[in-house]
Amino acid sequence: MTRLWNEPSAFADEMIDGFVAANGRYVRRVQGGVARSTVSPAGQVAVVIGGGSGHYPAFGGLVGPGLAHGAAMGNLFASPSTQQIQAVAKAAEGGGGVFFSYGNYAGDVLNFDAAQERLRAEGIACETVAVTDDIFSASPAEKHKRRGIAGDLTVFRAAAAAAEAGYDLAEVTRVARLANERTRSFGVAFTGCTLPGAEQPLFSVPEGRMAIGLGIHGEPGIDETDIPTADGLAELLVEKLLEELPDGVDTAQGARVVPVLNGLGSLKYEELFVVYRRVAQLLEQAGIEIVDPHVGEYCTSFDMAGVSLTLFWLDDELAGLWETPVDTPAYRRGSVAPQSLRDAAGDPDALDAGAASEVPPTDDDSHAAAATVVAVVETIAETIDTHVDELGRLDSIAGDGDHGIGMQRGSHAALDAARAAYAAGAGAGTVLERAADGWSDKAGGTSGALWGVILSSVAGALGDTGRPSRAAVATGVAAGRAGVMAYGKAEVGDKTLVDALVPFSATLTAQIEGGARLADAWRVAADATTQAALATADLLPRMGRARTHGQNSVGTPDPGAVSLALIVTAVADLLATTERN
Ligand code: ADP
Ligand code: MG
Repeated sequence: MTRLWNEPSAFADEMIDGFVAANGRYVRRVQGGVARSTVSPAGQVAVVIGGGSGHYPAFGGLVGPGLAHGAAMGNLFASPSTQQIQAVAKAAEGGGGVFFSYGNYAGDVLNFDAAQERLRAEGIACETVAVTDDIFSASPAEKHKRRGIAGDLTVFRAAAAAAEAGYDLAEVTRVARLANERTRSFGVAFTGCTLPGAEQPLFSVPEGRMAIGLGIHGEPGIDETDIPTADGLAELLVEKLLEELPDGVDTAQGARVVPVLNGLGSLKYEELFVVYRRVAQLLEQAGIEIVDPHVGEYCTSFDMAGVSLTLFWLDDELAGLWETPVDTPAYRRGSVAPQSLRDAAGDPDALDAGAASEVPPTDDDSHAAAATVVAVVETIAETIDTHVDELGRLDSIAGDGDHGIGMQRGSHAALDAARAAYAAGAGAGTVLERAADGWSDKAGGTSGALWGVILSSVAGALGDTGRPSRAAVATGVAAGRAGVMAYGKAEVGDKTLVDALVPFSATLTAQIEGGARLADAWRVAADATTQAALATADLLPRMGRARTHGQNSVGTPDPGAVSLALIVTAVADLLATTERN
């Protein structure tokens, strides 16, 4: 249980405020997360890490000399938004380009990739390595699909040590790839975690049993056994990890390894030491040289009772980088030279992005249509409010249970932004564009980024002049469908919202081309969407977080497809009344 909070929805923000207040000699608050408060050498590659909050010391606790230059900090267990990542990267960047690294989760990949594209378009060089250390989350043949867990630390650290040593962006990237290739983790859990304000843990493990293949977001384990002894657990962890040695590692030829035994939150140090005692014996018996063992909390999940073992296989280059000093709020090694603090007065007010009160010019027709856009966004937010628990429940079956709250945060932020833009006199396109930006910024997660793409595509088709035509609406929706598929790379049949969006767009276009009024066309398309969303129950997920727990979700429709169907159906009702008037 998490016992202390104020407003659960404010938890992540208040946590970051307190973390910064307590660690001003390392970090400063910037829009979207934290950046170093110390001066970094000009031209140094900036290592920017990030992910959802709720994993301390990942990610903000790992910012400081010898480690990250900035951390994008999303909401609890939700990827930071594209805007947050972009803002943190700009605050951290010092002329040498940006190197991004994070655990490989669908929402993080979408948002970090989008941020990288935006930064490149601004002329800032960027490279990325997503960490894929969790050997239990995909087979060796599909290594690139593996999740990132506690092995984040070794990859971040190797990349950051390279940056500190003056390597350029390409070389930092090479080192990070090498470190990722040589980092393997495996974990187990005994209980799930309970988020602030939640009544139930995100998952539970039966008394006396142990879930194998834990995730760090409260995803259920992939397999289950009786709880072994501490020694039995050490044997399981070491045995599994030694079964899959990285290329170039030969234990008969003097392999060196940094073991990281990571507690997820509720396991105590004493228990970890009892387990580590046996881990060390087993590694030594296998003829492996142990370097700088780590036993403690490096990536947590609130009060989850779980443990993972990471083995980081050194070569000469990685061993040299590993020895360099590091000093961050939560992770220290060696002694770092004294640092000077940035001149706070010289920092732009990074937190206040400035309420965008200025809007592009428009005409009466488009401003009138903007009133309908605001009403549509209102309807979306109300629909999500009504179904928030149901959407969360659907997402907890194979995902991480946050689809309801993520959609709620997104749609309400969209509504605030849409109302503000309308009040400032904006046209239909701008009102919807601001809504899209607000949604993707505040929702986090995969669906937040995708809803940003959908709304922004429709906004582009509506424009700010004249009364938008039916054909423009259909074109905008089609562009949204294409954008979602290009961005998320899911196809029809992968059990995602694409399965609902494709028939919605196709039916809407066909109806409008056949001469139907918008409200009628939308109704037929909404009905097709509902059918398609329900039909996803029969599918196995092949994309997103749910992929790892695919089998669990058969029989349950995809949450993202269901929320899309609920939204377009509610909008059909709204259009029916507005067109009649
Ligand atoms: P997260 O998966 O980051 O927790 P949400 O829970 O808000 O985000 O949204 C989950 C939904 O996102 C899924 O039900 C699915 O419809 C959709 N989704 C996940 N990955 C993709 C993808 N690659 N393309 C399209 N939709 C996706
Ligand atoms: Mg989710």
